[in-house]
Amino acid sequence: MADNKAWINALTAGTAVVAVATVVCVWQRMQGSTQTTRTTRHQALGLLHEFQHAAATPLYVLRQISEHMAVEMRAGLMTEGKSSLLMLPTFVENLPDGNETGLFYALDLGGTNFRVLRCLLGGREGRVLKQEYEEVPIPKILMFGTSEELFDFIAKKLVDFVNREGDEYKPRGGRQQTVRELGLTFSFPVKQTSVRSGVLIQWSKGFLVADGVGADVVALLQRAINRQHGPKIEVVVLVNDTVGTLAGGRYWNEDAMVGMILGTGTNACYVERDLPAHANSSTGEMVINMEWAGFWSSHLPRTYADEQLDSESVNPGQAGFEKMIGGMYLGEIVRRVLFKMAGEAALFGDEIPHKLKEPFVLMTSEMSKMHADESSDLRVVGTILRDVFGIQKTELPTRRIVHDVCDTVTLRSARLAAAGIVGIFKKIGGDSWDSPHLSGTSKAVHHHSRVTSTGVGAGKTMVAMDGGLFEHYIQYRIYMQAAVSELLSEAAASRLVIQLAKDGSGIGASILAACHSKYR
Ligand code: ADP
Ligand code: MG
Repeated sequence: MADNKAWINALTAGTAVVAVATVVCVWQRMQGSTQTTRTTRHQALGLLHEFQHAAATPLYVLRQISEHMAVEMRAGLMTEGKSSLLMLPTFVENLPDGNETGLFYALDLGGTNFRVLRCLLGGREGRVLKQEYEEVPIPKILMFGTSEELFDFIAKKLVDFVNREGDEYKPRGGRQQTVRELGLTFSFPVKQTSVRSGVLIQWSKGFLVADGVGADVVALLQRAINRQHGPKIEVVVLVNDTVGTLAGGRYWNEDAMVGMILGTGTNACYVERDLPAHANSSTGEMVINMEWAGFWSSHLPRTYADEQLDSESVNPGQAGFEKMIGGMYLGEIVRRVLFKMAGEAALFGDEIPHKLKEPFVLMTSEMSKMHADESSDLRVVGTILRDVFGIQKTELPTRRIVHDVCDTVTLRSARLAAAGIVGIFKKIGGDSWDSPHLSGTSKAVHHHSRVTSTGVGAGKTMVAMDGGLFEHYIQYRIYMQAAVSELLSEAAASRLVIQLAKDGSGIGASILAACHSKYR
């Protein structure tokens, strides 16, 4: 019995010793892990600050970039190949003024979807009496086929759409319209040879169509339409999405001078009055497609994430501006920064989450949701990290770092876009209205002393803007507007109006078809 007791005592003591040892061990491990977490978080914060520093856009840098934009614009206008901006003449010399009438069609191709659209214009009073559109996804397989297969598919959908035209679109008085005139918005790089013809320079945005480069895209579409043996449809104008957006903006507001896209990609066009000799224009002005995706300046704040993204892209060394700005890339830049933090500072634990290694897995729309998260525990950030990267659990300080990475990438994009806009604004003399002594050689242009039809006028310059990035990303717009205000005097900033012209490119192309109609 005593033996037993002694044995039990010994056992209990032993258990106690083991238990104490275990507790000490767990405690030590906890201490260790807290310490590691702390050091790794400290390292992650260091990486964040390094990235913020490399991506910074202080005012003096933005000034240099906007100056450089204007310089590159001049160089691109004067000599081919001497600028990172192509500055392509569009041959669009007449923009809508609101008096257009009749039924017109448009076809908008340049992304994963294409859209067909019809609208009935009723002149200054009636404006857009009626419009209808249809969006059709492009089957993936056609992005890797031949141009004939692609255009046959598009033409077939267009003809089906025209065949469904309701009686309400018929011209009054019963006169049958025999030819439907169409504006083609084609958002791939094209060298235009006239307002209704242009040669494809290259496919982009994931299209790997075997042929078509060097061909006239209007002829490609027109031949495909004719092969359908359907109603008579004639392509009368070819534009890209920026020009369509500008036309759509100008239709409602005569102050619209710039058309811009901030969506998957980015680009801008504007009305130029200081034209080089080779761009002969009967009106003395012409819309110039800048193709600013390719803008380059040594002042651009480029980081390791940009360099990696570029070198692993399908078009290394190209579209450098777009790769820092466009919606296609912002999420991917964030992913690359987080990947580095995961690898070098164990931001998400000892292992790098598998999904974090996958390029383009973080969409910019998800990134903007994380950025917009205002909850005290950054719940949305936690959820998106789990859903997108499979990271089950994250602590608040980690979420904060992720949030700040999103903020940094968006802030830079918005400020660079703003510097670009201000560059254009300066090039067309918009900033020099109230301070002619500052205008230098640039001419103060357009209707600066005219009161517009909407009555606001008095020298406003409107940027007609389209694209999902601008439309949906609220903080993006706030950052962009703030940078415009920093870059310009108060008076000049108040005259530069950036306005959403939603889906302007489609309707703009149909209105441009009216301006360039052959039959009216
Ligand atoms: P596209 O530029 O291809 O013609 P859109 O103008 O609709 O198409 O822009 C789509 C792009 O807008 C997406 O690729 C994405 O980058 C961005 N985007 C869409 N929704 C959001 C959102 N909620 N927040 C931020 N960006 C968004
Ligand atoms: Mg678009």
